[in-house]
Amino acid sequence: MRYQSEAPKRRFLAGVSCPKCQQMDAVVQVNIVTPVPDEYIECTQCGHREHRPDPNVISAKNHAEDQLIRDAMVTGTSGTVKFKP
Ligand SMILES: [Zn+2]
Repeated sequence: MRYQSEAPKRRFLAGVSCPKCQQMDAVVQVNIVTPVPDEYIECTQCGHREHRPDPNVISAKNHAEDQLIRDAMVTGTSGTVKFKP
């Protein structure tokens, strides 16, 4: 396993303005693993931090995508199962 970093991951959010200082393109999304997994956004200009408005939106979206993939798999594999000798 190469993936062993516990350092916070920072991802730059293009086109997002800081809710506090309104600075454009200054917000990063931070994912931390320790001590508890968490995710928030941080402004590189004024240091403002806040949690994303509604994490449920994200998980609901992921769930919908899972559903789509499952549907696609069912449709795509019906009658085309191949056995290798
Ligand atoms: Zn700011």
